[in-house]
This record gives sequence, C-alpha cells and structure tokens, in this order.
Amino acid sequence: MTTVREILDEQRAFFRTGATRPLEFRVEQLRRLQDALKAGENFLLQALAKDLGRPAPEAVVSEIAMVAAEIEYAAAKLRRWVRPQRRRVPLLAFPASGWIQPEPLGVVLILGPWNYPVQLLLMPLVGAIAAGNCAVLKPSELAPETSRALARLIRDTFSPAHVRLLEGGPDLAEALVSEPFDKIFFTGSRSTGRRVMLAAAHHLTPVVLELGGKSPCIVCKDAPLDVAARRIAWGKFLNAGQTCVAPDFVLVEEPVCEALIEALTRAIREFFGDNPRRSADYGRIVNRAHFERLRSLLSGGRVILGGDMDAESLYFGPTLITDVSPDAPLMQEEIFGPLLPILSFRHLDEALEWLAQQPAPLALYLFTRQRAIQERVLARTRSGGVCINDTILQVAARELPFGGLGPSGMGVYHGHASFQTFSHYRPVLRRSLFPDWRWRYPPSRLALSRLKCLARWLLRW
Ligand code: NAD
Repeated sequence: MTTVREILDEQRAFFRTGATRPLEFRVEQLRRLQDALKAGENFLLQALAKDLGRPAPEAVVSEIAMVAAEIEYAAAKLRRWVRPQRRRVPLLAFPASGWIQPEPLGVVLILGPWNYPVQLLLMPLVGAIAAGNCAVLKPSELAPETSRALARLIRDTFSPAHVRLLEGGPDLAEALVSEPFDKIFFTGSRSTGRRVMLAAAHHLTPVVLELGGKSPCIVCKDAPLDVAARRIAWGKFLNAGQTCVAPDFVLVEEPVCEALIEALTRAIREFFGDNPRRSADYGRIVNRAHFERLRSLLSGGRVILGGDMDAESLYFGPTLITDVSPDAPLMQEEIFGPLLPILSFRHLDEALEWLAQQPAPLALYLFTRQRAIQERVLARTRSGGVCINDTILQVAARELPFGGLGPSGMGVYHGHASFQTFSHYRPVLRRSLFPDWRWRYPPSRLALSRLKCLARWLLRW
C-alpha cells in the first residue's frame, strides 16, 4: 500500500519537473475539471442527496455552479495573475530593475468538511491548480457517498502525481497533517483547526483555516421586514442550517421584534409549506450525533415555531426560539443547524458593545437602509466578512476575498485571493554589474554626516 510519504514524494518529484508551471498546463487542468464536473453532475447530486438529503436545485447552485464559475473566472484571469509585477528600486541599487513574480508553493494539502463537501474541496483546488501546485485532497468521511463520488471524479480527471484524493477519517487526516506539505488549507471546526495548526507547526507549514463561529444578524427597525425575513430565513435554513456563514442568531430592534417573528414565520411557510418534512426543498441533518446535539440546544429558550423532529430520517424542522438565555449552550456554541434564536435590543450601541465582547464571527449581517447605521456597525464590530441587507451572498462575490478572523479562521480565498493564497510572491532584484562604486565598501571614506545625507538621497526611489 502506498504511504502518505510516498504520495508526497511522487507529487514533489512531479512538481520539480516544472510540468505544473506553464500557463497552458494550468488552464488545461482547470478545463478538465470543468468538463468532469459537467459530466459527473448527476452522480454528485445523487451522492449529495444520499449524504445530506440535499435538494437538487440547492445542490446545483451551491456546490456545482459555484465551482464551475470559479474555474471560468480563474481560467479567464490567469494570464494576468501570473504576470510579474514591476516595482521601483532605490537609487542605491541603480542601475537595476525589480519585480515580484508569483510562484507555485509546491505540494499542498486540502482538507474538506461535510456540509458543502463538493464546493469546499474543489474551490480551493481551483486556486491550487491555477497557481501551479500539486495537491492532495481529503474530503470528509461524514459525507461518504460524496467522498466516493469525488474520488472517482479526481481519479478520472488528473494524473495522481498532480492531484490525488485520499479517502478516510481522522486517522488519515492526522497522518496527512504531520507530513511536510508546502501549505495546508483546512475547512472545518475550530477544535480540529487547532489540531491542524499544532501539527503544521512542527514543519513550519503555513496554514489557511476556514472555521466557523456565531454569525450575528442585526435587524434595525427601519428595515423592510418582509424582505429581511425572507433573506434571513433563506440563509438560515439552506442545507438545514448547516452552513458556516448561516446567520447564527438574530438581534432585532425591540419595537419590530414581534413583526419580524411574524414575517419569519410567513417566510418559512412560504418556502417549505405547513409541514417542512414533506418539502422537497428542505434538507436533513448529517448524522445522529449532530441531530442529538441540536436537540439538546432546544432547552436554551422558548420554541415559538418548529422544534419538530424525527430521529429516524434525521429531520429537524425550521425552528424559531425566543426568551433565550445568553449563558445557554444555544448562545455559547456555533449552532450549525436549523435553530434560530431571536434576541431583541433597545439601543444599537448596547447591542454593538455586547457583540464586541464576543469572539469575531465568520460573517456579520445587518439589515437597515440607513448609511449612518451601516457605517457605525462597520466601525464598531469585527468579523471575517460582512453582508448588508442580505445573507450568504457575499460568498458568491468572487472579487471579495472570503475567510475568517481570529477564532473564525485565518487566510482568505475565492477568485484572485485563491491564486494569491496558493502562490509565493517572490521578489527579484536584478542589478547591473557596472558601475561598481567603491565608496559602498569598507573602509569608509566619508564623514558620518555626509554619509547620512547621501544615504537619505540614495535610498529614495
Ligand atoms: P471537522 O473539523 O470535524 O472536519 C473537517 C475535516 O477535518 C474532515 O475532513 C475531517 O476528516 C478532518 N479531521 C478530523 N480530525 C482531524 C485531525 N485530527 N487533524 C486533521 N484533520 C482532521 O469539521 P466538520 O464537522 O466537517 O465541519 C463543520 C465545521 O466546519 C463547522 O464548525 C463549520 O462552521 C465549519 N465550516 C467552515 C467553513 C468556512 O468556509 N469557514 C465552511 C464550512 C464549514
């Protein structure tokens, strides 16, 4: 059986041949991935339905179309991205030229989670290939059908010396992160992220950590409540709430709290009918352990809508919760499921003060028409990203880098940011061999005061 080290050695040897560097190779590999996605769409959708009860329309957009659009964008922009960037050099180095050239890192490791198992494994891969790297991928063992489908797709598309997918659980993941990869790109939970970073420290391997957190959603009284409710309910109950950037809880201005709850109730009924269990558009919880974890969170407040569930089919209904205790686990840990706590506030400043004391979340959502409030919230809060007057869509804006801050992660990707994440920006200074001024060499021939003047002048550009 091939060991992880042998796989790494094989990819390193391939990388050293320089085969991954030419622009044409990168674009060709991206196109191959695009064709494979198109050809394999049906078996990926079937696998996602089996693993997550994922409705096909939702899966097409959030898993397949996102990756296809990322490939299209990278292939179109790559010629520009790989171009060296000229930089001015100081007179001291004159005559000389300076530039920065993006270089591939080598062999990178990409570890994916189960909640968007296709998108979150292949989006970083697009950046890795575009930047000219070799890659080892490991999808989550908690979405086994999708893992198998992805293994087949990767095997049929790439040479294993260039891109290889390994299937397995935590044991394999631990074996992988203890190898000297040139970068580890990890998407998953905070606790596993910590383990990845510790293991990577041994080889000083740089890491990107795409983690989670409790993303707040602030609703001010001037917001159009029907639109806000629809957008919040859509972002929250997509994939049955198992989305890293789902609004975790709502903070609504007190005078409109009741009206927002009514609007959310209407939106949920509009989307999934009176019995969401029978809706073809509503997903399921990934496994029994997560189902039980969500059930235990229910005690953190008063259920005013939903709360219905079925352990057998892993159905957990869209649930609204009020009278939330701030110390309950519901408000202490990332919910990652279809439970939406609704808290109200009287003064925005108090709410912002409380938010500032919480760990920086992956996303922050705000519904208000007023620019002054938008600016105040931006100035007084911290988060990986922000979306004003909608939810989730910031992820699809590929010219906006995506990533967390502090406990919600480090490093960014999507679009150009992915290419940058998987590149080393190598600075190069090219000097002329003539003239070779003697005064720079010891022994010093100038008085200190004159040297200072000269240095100030020569170190300008
Ligand atoms: P997880 O941390 O349990 O697993 C993620 C990956 O890590 C899996 O491939 C798993 O096999 C692997 N792994 C397990 N043990 C490991 C170890 N000791 N060392 C290295 N790797 C190991 O996460 P999950 O349950 O699959 O995903 C849910 C979490 O991911 C949530 O917290 C969510 O917020 C977060 N998430 C973040 C993003 C983002 O983009 N920031 C996206 C999706 C999910």
